[in-house]
Amino acid sequence: MKIYSNHSLKNHNSFKVDVKAKYFIRITQSEEVSEFLKLKKYHKNIFILGGGSNILFQKNYPGTVVQIATKGINVIKEDNANVLVELSAGESWNGFVHWAINNGYSGIENMVLIPGTVGAAATQNIAAYGQNIEDVFESLDTVEISSGKSIVFDKKAMKLGYRESIFKRELRNKFIITNVRIKLGKNDFIDMSYHSRYESLEGELSKFASPPYNIRDIAKAVSVIRERKFPDWEKIGTAGSFFLNPVIAKKELIELQKKVPNVQFYPIDKLTYPTPDDPKFVHADYVKIAAGWLLEELGWKGKWIGKVGTSPNQSLVIITQKGATAQEIVSFAEKMKADVKKAYNINLIPEVNII
Ligand SMILES: Cc1cc2nc3c(=O)[nH]c(=O)nc-3n(C[C@H](O)[C@H](O)[C@H](O)COP(=O)(O)OP(=O)(O)OC[C@H]3O[C@@H](n4cnc5c(N)ncnc54)[C@H](O)[C@@H]3O)c2cc1C
Repeated sequence: MKIYSNHSLKNHNSFKVDVKAKYFIRITQSEEVSEFLKLKKYHKNIFILGGGSNILFQKNYPGTVVQIATKGINVIKEDNANVLVELSAGESWNGFVHWAINNGYSGIENMVLIPGTVGAAATQNIAAYGQNIEDVFESLDTVEISSGKSIVFDKKAMKLGYRESIFKRELRNKFIITNVRIKLGKNDFIDMSYHSRYESLEGELSKFASPPYNIRDIAKAVSVIRERKFPDWEKIGTAGSFFLNPVIAKKELIELQKKVPNVQFYPIDKLTYPTPDDPKFVHADYVKIAAGWLLEELGWKGKWIGKVGTSPNQSLVIITQKGATAQEIVSFAEKMKADVKKAYNINLIPEVNII
């Protein structure tokens, strides 16, 4: 295990912001976790990092950044219908999705191409195109940094919410997630309910395949949609969707629809795409609004201020040119937020972890 002082984080955050960590430790072997736990000198002001694809560091980090980069994928249980897979927290999420597809295991194919690690995917409660990690998540192993105790968290203990978990709130940077267990299906059940203002998964699928579609088709169609919407994050600075989709009361939705008649909305819990007359909506008190739609209405799609702009195909995705600073990104995001507040009296909350 190597310890670096005054280490640049530029290659460890997808906005490529050029800040430094006082100490930087990269853990690649599971045994190194206990080695790190003994090094009390480095325990002040810890930040646990995965791939850095949902982080905006605003300034030099005054403590220790510990990057979890452990690798390993093992099937630990199997029956006719399912496999239980145990993954090291530093495994690439997208790599895992491809592993699952190549083995014919379903349940995560719509979440292809989400950057970052498996450990972070669980803390972030990731979702995309109609699939949610919480539907396949079983449990995870952690080590408490202060005590060195190993503790297992199941789904209930994770207190999952919209891009939320206990590790983003009260236990933030107090526990290192070491392994994650995910249950995948052996069936070919697919979800193609995703649709947006401009496209649908079904429409994309019909361009290159014919029913019955399989998980490989789904992953391919999602990849095409994502490549249109998101920049190549390995080259262009971005952290994906910058803001969460705001939750508003149903009566506020009715008011909003007077200004933005076709605005897309979703149920507040998991990411699904029911029709507006679905009981899920009829009996709901709150809905989630497509933040990108509101921003697009206000002219934010493809807009640039200096080195910071939005994707030409999705106004919720902030992108940057080389050399953009965190302050420029935050100031750009503040302007987006102020516009939405002024036009619709809706508060946008960042999805990105601003540190
Ligand atoms: C182009 C692009 C597209 C994206 N699309 C999506 C999408 O479709 N859906 C979606 O949900 N997200 C999306 N994201 C956001 C991001 O990819 C996810 O949030 C991802 O899970 C972050 O993984 P990471 O390893 O980079 O985490 P990081 O950004 O490094 O960390 C995220 C959080 O997890 C914590 N953490 C990380 N690893 C551990 C660990 N081992 N133990 C304890 N805590 C840990 C960190 O402290 C931090 O709070 C996108 C991002 C980009 C750049």
